[in-house]
Amino acid sequence: MRAEITIKGIVQGVGFRPFIYRIAVKNKLVGFVRNRGDAGVEIVVEGNDNNIKQFLTDLEEKKPPLAQIYDLITNYSEEKKEFEKFTILKSSEGGELSGSVIPPDVSICNECLAELRDSNNRRYDYFFITCTDCGPRYSIIEELPYDRPNTTMQEFLMCNECKIEYTDPSNRRFHAQTVACSKCGPKIFLTNNGGELIKRGDPIREAGRLLEEGYIVAIKGNGGFHIAAATTRSDPVKRLRKTKHRSQKPFAIMARDLETIKTFAEVSEEEAKLLTSYIKPIVLLRKSDDYYLSDLISPGLHNIGVMLPYTGLHSMLFDQVQEPAFIMTSANPPNEPIIKENDRAIKELGSVVDFFLFHDRKIAQRCDDSVVRINNKIPSIIRRSRGYAPAPIHLKYSINHCTLGISAELNATTCVLLGNKAFISQHIGDIEKFETFEFLKSATNHLIKLTNSKVEVVACDLHPRFHTTKLAHELGNKLGCNVIPVQHHHAHIASLMGEHNISEIIGIACDGIGYGSDGNVWGGEVLFCNSNGFQRVGHLQEQPMIGGDLATKYPARMVVGILHSATDIEKWLLSNVKHFPHGEKEVEIVLKQLKQGNFIKTTSCGRVLDAVSALLGICYERTYEGEPAMKLESVAIKGKDALQLSPETNGNTLNTTYLLSQIYDNMSKYPVADLACSAQSYIAIGLAQLAIEEAKKLGIDTIGFSGGVAYNEFITLAIKKEVEMAGLKFVTNVQVPPGDGGISFGQAIATSYEK
Ligand code: ZN
Ligand code: ZN
Ligand code: FE
Repeated sequence: MRAEITIKGIVQGVGFRPFIYRIAVKNKLVGFVRNRGDAGVEIVVEGNDNNIKQFLTDLEEKKPPLAQIYDLITNYSEEKKEFEKFTILKSSEGGELSGSVIPPDVSICNECLAELRDSNNRRYDYFFITCTDCGPRYSIIEELPYDRPNTTMQEFLMCNECKIEYTDPSNRRFHAQTVACSKCGPKIFLTNNGGELIKRGDPIREAGRLLEEGYIVAIKGNGGFHIAAATTRSDPVKRLRKTKHRSQKPFAIMARDLETIKTFAEVSEEEAKLLTSYIKPIVLLRKSDDYYLSDLISPGLHNIGVMLPYTGLHSMLFDQVQEPAFIMTSANPPNEPIIKENDRAIKELGSVVDFFLFHDRKIAQRCDDSVVRINNKIPSIIRRSRGYAPAPIHLKYSINHCTLGISAELNATTCVLLGNKAFISQHIGDIEKFETFEFLKSATNHLIKLTNSKVEVVACDLHPRFHTTKLAHELGNKLGCNVIPVQHHHAHIASLMGEHNISEIIGIACDGIGYGSDGNVWGGEVLFCNSNGFQRVGHLQEQPMIGGDLATKYPARMVVGILHSATDIEKWLLSNVKHFPHGEKEVEIVLKQLKQGNFIKTTSCGRVLDAVSALLGICYERTYEGEPAMKLESVAIKGKDALQLSPETNGNTLNTTYLLSQIYDNMSKYPVADLACSAQSYIAIGLAQLAIEEAKKLGIDTIGFSGGVAYNEFITLAIKKEVEMAGLKFVTNVQVPPGDGGISFGQAIATSYEK
């Protein structure tokens, strides 16, 4: 019998062909296997019926850990007797099938880690040790098929020993495109901040020692540069904050190992699993009671972002030091993408860092670290990048037209929705600067190319002046296809519908800002969504944003806007003038604008949480996205819902002036933590009740929660509780970020329903 098999899935760059070779030989079959240009694999086997059957069973059951099979088509026929043995053929160029899958970067595997530490091994101490089970993938791929000449490894000619391993089907490094050793592979070197070479012992251990001594070192990794510093002393962190103009924004850290993490943070079973997985993302962990690292790493927050070493290089940094962890923050100029070129690093970071740890392999695709938080045992992806992207999200249904989602303005990603797969790019960033815009453009083109897709529809935000909207029209013209705008919060809820295969839902979408269908600023929305689109069925009370963006930066302005109708705001202002950067003059203008009605209005949930944060004296200035609300959550964790307020609604609007005035009136009676908790509780229960009422009215059984506020564990759990008590199903995002990193996916999903 002859079987011709085509497989689609994550099957290139994961040791799949040597695996096929081994099971074919084991089952006495002849024929061949080869990679296809579409990232799939093609197999032809001939032999006896039972052996072919066993071969197919082995294929399903024993495949390599990173391989994922999405489609497997087998055609049986008569033997043609054209083979004498089983061989691995060169890749075919043909790729008429599209939508196959490029593997994401994979953290160093245990076998490679053991070899790195084995003084008898050829790759002892080689910082870029990898095999077919591990190493960079997406960040080195320039083109498909995933073969060495199409990667940035092509500059490194394999030495004889590496070549032998590479060509031996029984070897773990057979066709591992990243195979290299200290003789033939990328080299590492240490320089001062002017890029002058420092010849002093082993560069990596030397860098580790310098970090421990308090120096700041920029380190080139797989997907870009990190800026590293010690974590147990405050002076380097302080210096880093000053030079990077980041007074408060938390820095991620990389810890030596899991045991060490447990000395300063609480780690649940789920968190440990994620930390040590082949993805090794940054996981937000709760600081433990005996947290002893510098308080300047994540000031004012109850949690800290921690990851484990994910390359040989990273683990070697800890070899000769006592430091439990190093700060490892993406190296990027403000609002620009992570730096990936050596010369640019010297230019942009020379004044920020003391040393550079460079290697000489080019980075094809930048890729920031991923960030995940586990809420109530369920992962909530904050940034879906290294280790995830661009592996697709699998839908339970297929869409007809290949759709591109291009994001809104913040935390942009790009998404190609093709058949039943959604390919979401790595994290791009906020599209405010030219560099980030260019990155979005190139990442989009790269994704279209890698997925071999023919885009038929481009989806973008409803905001007419976003750069992304302009890009969507540019692409629409170029590709000759329709451009369909999708309302921001509709996209958030559509992301839930796509992930969970839901056709009708009442969605609660809460975030900082999103352009509404009425041209106003939305952000605390209850939407009824189905395949026909959406209807806004509820929202938070509209509140003044005095001074527009200034009210976002200085939440005391929100307090004035929200409270003025309920209380003597001038009394509050008397003792709070200092929280307005320009003092009394500014307050005067604020009051004047308020009186004249000279302001825009918003239903944003983020702005209300920010206002509560300022009212309670927790945070008066937003120096990074979400700061006041995040700090409010960190305080609320220590409190209980003391006020137990019942939601005040006006039709389908939740009254937030009532909330702030209740808090204001009770400030002397309860601890700040309790009031913070009560505020979150009021918003959660209030929105849940609006949603439940609508769901019952319309006969819908599922309520979902998405948007950046969904990272707040307390609010999410409180909504869940209400919804489930009402006998309805509750869903949140699991595979896609609930924040704006999931918007491109949501846009594509929302558009795919259009006829
Ligand atoms: Zn490995
Ligand atoms: Zn070699
Ligand atoms: Fe949003």
